[in-house]
Amino acid sequence: MVIGIIGAGASGMAAALAAAENPNATVILLERQARVGRKLQATGNGRCNLTNLQAEERGYHGEQPEFAQSAIRAFGPAQTRDWFASLGLYTVAEPSGKVYPYSDQANSVVDVLRLNLVRENIVLKTDFEVDKIQKTPAGFLLTCGEEQIACNKLIVACGGLAGSKLGGSMSGYKLLGKLGHRSTRLRPSLVQIKTAWSGITALKGVRANCTATILKDGLVYSKSNGEIQFTEQGISGPVIFEISRDVCYGGGDWCCCLDFLPDWTEEQLKEQIARRCTSTLPMEELLTGILHNRLGRVLTKAAGISGKQWANQLSDREEAELIKTVKAFELELTEPLGMDSAQVTAGGVLTDGFDPNTMESRLVPGLYACGEVLDIDGDCGGYNLQWAWSSGRCAGIHAGKESQ
Ligand SMILES: Cc1cc2nc3c(=O)[nH]c(=O)nc-3n(C[C@H](O)[C@H](O)[C@H](O)COP(=O)(O)OP(=O)(O)OC[C@H]3O[C@@H](n4cnc5c(N)ncnc54)[C@H](O)[C@@H]3O)c2cc1C
Repeated sequence: MVIGIIGAGASGMAAALAAAENPNATVILLERQARVGRKLQATGNGRCNLTNLQAEERGYHGEQPEFAQSAIRAFGPAQTRDWFASLGLYTVAEPSGKVYPYSDQANSVVDVLRLNLVRENIVLKTDFEVDKIQKTPAGFLLTCGEEQIACNKLIVACGGLAGSKLGGSMSGYKLLGKLGHRSTRLRPSLVQIKTAWSGITALKGVRANCTATILKDGLVYSKSNGEIQFTEQGISGPVIFEISRDVCYGGGDWCCCLDFLPDWTEEQLKEQIARRCTSTLPMEELLTGILHNRLGRVLTKAAGISGKQWANQLSDREEAELIKTVKAFELELTEPLGMDSAQVTAGGVLTDGFDPNTMESRLVPGLYACGEVLDIDGDCGGYNLQWAWSSGRCAGIHAGKESQ
């Protein structure tokens, strides 16, 4: 039996290694790029956050988020760590639950997978972009230009559109579409969000711990604590990533209200300001030692206070405005950045066309799909790679089973 797999990313490599557990199977892994795991190598800022200890059942989205449950229950974070250990990768869990390779290098994850593909005699063909799939009586015929490869079972692991510079493409949606599988609308997720505020450029690179309340049409949409990062065009960081799949989608006015001192009440901040205002401190230094220096200065200016003014000249009205700016800084959100910058695609091939226990197509027997190409996307923090390992392994094991 020949099992063809399109895409040597996270889910495709997991599927190939699982399919190869059947000694009678010949596994052929096809990759359009020059090397395997290009996107995987860039994950987690080069550290690869390969799973999350909490990545069981919750943390997944899509039209049918429950589709992810079966594969993740069968092969969750604990099994993933054991599997990686068996492949030769030592992993560590941070107190937050995020799991990384002990080497702290995403390269190690790619290398360990690549070496095991060799060890399991998996046939790897790189620079092979499948542009057509034909159904044949014996299985499938895969075409790349003039070249053709036949297989009895086929796993589509082409990934999503996100991170296009790292290999994200429409390919998987199109190939599965030709075989009758429809896709949802696609949108970027786990991505920074642009803001209309022109002052943002002065904060580029600043990080701040805060409570972020997201408002849609003036009503609270979500509230969470965590780190915000300011970028040239907007805001980023885990707190923002979490809401990026929904923000500005479907219209409405979106706004982010940031509390830069969530551990202090307004009264406590007022006391601090009052203590500092007795001195001849320039206003631009008033928040020095409390907030990031640049953030303190920008917020003072945003409160309409001149940095050159002396702190002991601060009026009651200015003081109230400064407290409001530090404790409830409102930023209008315009749109998320595009697919190029997104870590994951929200949306994908509709999961009702697949069996969640096997990842096999309900329309085309012998066809399987796994990973990001399907309409499942996870939260920030290792959830998406966990989905790639779990669904890839599920597809590989079931494709590797001999037909009765
Ligand atoms: C910058 C960045 C950082 C991220 N960090 C994390 C993180 O730390 N933790 C986490 O959980 N998730 C992270 N993600 C998300 C995670 O990388 C993806 O969800 C995951 O890689 C999806 O796995 P996949 O196998 O479905 O797709 P991919 O890993 O994208 O693999 C798909 C492969 O298929 C190939 N391919 C596509 N079409 C064809 C074709 N027609 N013929 C042949 N080959 C084809 C592609 O070249 C690619 O190699 C990150 C994503 C990005 C972009």
